[in-house]
Amino acid sequence: MSDIRLRFPPSPTGYLHIGGARTALYNWLYAKKTGGKLILRIEDTDTERSTEESIKGIVDGLTWLGIDWDEGPYFQSEFSDDHARVANRLLEEGKAYKCFCTKEDLDAKREKALAEKQSLGYDRTCRDLSKEQIDKNESAGLPFVIRFKVPQRQGILSYEDKVLGTIKSDYKEIDDFVIVRSNGKPLYLLCNVADDIRDRISHIIRGQDHMTNTLKQVLLYEALAAPLPIFAHIPLTMDTKRAKISKRSHGEVVAVQFYREHGFLAWALNNYLALLGWSPGNDQEIFSQEEMIEQFTLERINKSHSIFNYRNNDPKFFTDPKAIAINEHHLRSLPIDELANHVKVEFQKEGLWREEYDGEKRAWFLTTIDLIRPRFHTLKDFGDMGRAYFADDFTICEKPLKKNILKHPGLADWLPQLADRYEALAEFTAEKAEDTARQLAEELDVKPGVIINGMRTVVTGQLAGPSMFDILMAIGREKVVERLRTTDNLYK
Ligand code: GLU
Repeated sequence: MSDIRLRFPPSPTGYLHIGGARTALYNWLYAKKTGGKLILRIEDTDTERSTEESIKGIVDGLTWLGIDWDEGPYFQSEFSDDHARVANRLLEEGKAYKCFCTKEDLDAKREKALAEKQSLGYDRTCRDLSKEQIDKNESAGLPFVIRFKVPQRQGILSYEDKVLGTIKSDYKEIDDFVIVRSNGKPLYLLCNVADDIRDRISHIIRGQDHMTNTLKQVLLYEALAAPLPIFAHIPLTMDTKRAKISKRSHGEVVAVQFYREHGFLAWALNNYLALLGWSPGNDQEIFSQEEMIEQFTLERINKSHSIFNYRNNDPKFFTDPKAIAINEHHLRSLPIDELANHVKVEFQKEGLWREEYDGEKRAWFLTTIDLIRPRFHTLKDFGDMGRAYFADDFTICEKPLKKNILKHPGLADWLPQLADRYEALAEFTAEKAEDTARQLAEELDVKPGVIINGMRTVVTGQLAGPSMFDILMAIGREKVVERLRTTDNLYK
């Protein structure tokens, strides 16, 4: 049994974004790789900003991604007694102290220090108050915060970060930081450590934005005589202008839900997110889940920030083109039965699903989605670019309409003629259909391409796709004939 225990502790103050999902993924990969356990802990102590909706969004998002956890969700707010106990313990053991300095006192001192170019840290006025003084202040009802007593040592405080190497600071640089507010509420910094100790967390994989707390937290572990976990601080995700990605500046494209709605395969998104901050050390970009688990190491997490290459100026690339390319790859190589399950979910949402696709038309359904997937980018494309295979209410795209239909007015006659010949064929096979189309082109003295492209346009609505005659077989004679006959509407 592995003693490795990891956690993903989101604050439920918004939706699950791709940065958070990536953190969860790295923890999950490491747990899977080492046989460790992953704990989901909702850090909901900021009651004003935490919402039920956000908790649900995070849980749903992780579930969709397939990032499962072994324990939890625990809720930080349910452990407030524990947090208070830890704060009191530090106080009782002389590792923390009550500070009665008022905000006004502190502001004045700060201004003076600023003017004199002195250190802006707390001057430790209350660190060594006598017991009598403390009792007196308390009986007078003076409010106080609790500060941690940073050891007055010479030298350097440090820890080894698995990603960034040695992180250190002079003890002198670390302020006697507040651990409990004047309203009695322990600060997040303390709660987070208390929870990690209680949950016996051995590895903390989290964003570099949390590093401002880490050295202080290292001191708390020491003061609480708890073994220090291994830290791995992962790079932040930036946009191409090196600004941190956020909903405010980038919109929905940073939400996991966006990818779900846009027809991404969950594993493809994981594959993309894994590479956004980690590299296998070679140029492999497509991973199965097993390969990723096998190859993932903390040491190979990048030190520098990752770039989410999203520009929002090309509608075809509604997100980072690399994410789309990875999705395409998985979409096109997924075992067909698995793909069928995904397409089914999409079709059910869009009203395109028919029970016979699971019954007598199962074989047809599998062959058809396999035929059309090589050009598709997302699951959405099956009901969109691929709509003509499953419904009659598909649209004819503008490009092929202009290029393949309107430029050749003769098709208004030629395609219905082809329809007649198809109807008359004893047997409607790909080969026969092709011979018939070529024969007609020859008789009419037009290029076969004119007939074939015209036919592609009215039968599928698309400019490009699989081999035309395979398409005809998938769509079936009856519908093909019907569509070839309604061509003249297009010229109106
Ligand atoms: N609750 C913090 C967040 O959502 C995580 C803190 C941590 O990983 O220690 O960013």
